[in-house]
Amino acid sequence: MAEKTIYYIEGDGIGPEVWKAGRPVLDAAVEKAYGTTNALNWVELLAGERGYAETGEHLPQATMDALAGAELAMKGPLQTPVGKGFRSLNVTLRQVFDLYACIRPIKYFKGIESPVKRPDLVDMTVFRENTEDVYAGIEYQSGSPEARKLIEFLTDQLGAKVDITAGVGIKPMTPAGSKRLVKRAIDFAIEHGKPSVTLVHKGNIMKHTEGGFRAWGYELAEQEYAGKVVREGEDGSGVIIKDRIADAMFQNVLMYPEQYSVIATTNLNGDYISDALAAQVGGLGLAPGVNMGDTLAFFEPTHGTAPTIAGKDMANPGSLILSGAMLLEHIGWTEAAQLIHAAVEKALTGKRVTVDLASQIAGSTRVGCQEFGDILLANL
Ligand code: NAD
Repeated sequence: MAEKTIYYIEGDGIGPEVWKAGRPVLDAAVEKAYGTTNALNWVELLAGERGYAETGEHLPQATMDALAGAELAMKGPLQTPVGKGFRSLNVTLRQVFDLYACIRPIKYFKGIESPVKRPDLVDMTVFRENTEDVYAGIEYQSGSPEARKLIEFLTDQLGAKVDITAGVGIKPMTPAGSKRLVKRAIDFAIEHGKPSVTLVHKGNIMKHTEGGFRAWGYELAEQEYAGKVVREGEDGSGVIIKDRIADAMFQNVLMYPEQYSVIATTNLNGDYISDALAAQVGGLGLAPGVNMGDTLAFFEPTHGTAPTIAGKDMANPGSLILSGAMLLEHIGWTEAAQLIHAAVEKALTGKRVTVDLASQIAGSTRVGCQEFGDILLANL
């Protein structure tokens, strides 16, 4: 029997209810696909508000120790603790475990009424660099001694012109950090038979950071994938490597979605584009994701704790369930993942959906979080 251990964190806000509705769907899909041959072994870890209530820490040491040795984990949303000196728990987890690739598949499900004309042409997977760029957290408030010191250095030592009252941030981007992200995207494209990888950057303006990302991406493709990839416009076969400037890309994914498949991009661009793409196909309630390092793959819905609907049986468990389907694909249990995708599509065309989707599907009936989970179970 093949058993996979998955460490899981329930999370805050709507976390417990989406897990309660969602986890049985994942187990049932595995059972339906493989009988008793394969099974998921869930091991709960504490974090967030429950972690704090039970251990006095939002990220208890036992949780961090378990994750340090883990390959697979899944989490619900975690609320950023209120009060001075607290950092986002999500950012802490990403940094401690070096989860450098944020991967989000964006695919249309039949039944959704989308704001665009041909959402069925949207089938993209965004690889967003997760550790560098303006998200590195090197930022100083306008008027602070740190900001003044940095501006003085820039002015005096480097001859830059920066107003002394400016708030300033640093945008570090490295060849190694960019290349390991692009490598993941190309590997994924080759493994899954995807036609292209598009490097999305703003290198026309930020030549040495965003432009660096583009140059390092092409360099990696040429050095490590000779014969397996081909640059757009050149002769040869294999995965097409192309690049687009971020602003043009936002137009292109709306107008020509069929031309884009795997997207490899920097942290800030990736943040924007993955939400914009998710909106084309149903929004946050159906948006799964994973943050991956070299050993740990940490799957999570892309939404937050949704405090205004928490505890009201209104949340859509779809994003968590589809994150679970990503995990199943990741470990090669694709039959179970396919059952889940088919069950979601059937639920959408059956028009009994949670409130977030009911507003997007004409003639639909609104159901609660648990009932939506039960519908998916029945659809498997
Ligand atoms: P949010 O995603 O919680 O909510 C945004 C909007 O989407 C709200 O209207 C909410 O009701 C709705 N929504 C979100 N998930 C939904 C679902 N599954 N079903 C139906 N509707 C849903 O974002 P926010 O309000 O900016 O953040 C709230 C808290 O969550 C903050 O503390 C933030 O730090 C945290 N957060 C955590 C994560 C994470 O753990 N990965 C991600 C984003 C935000």
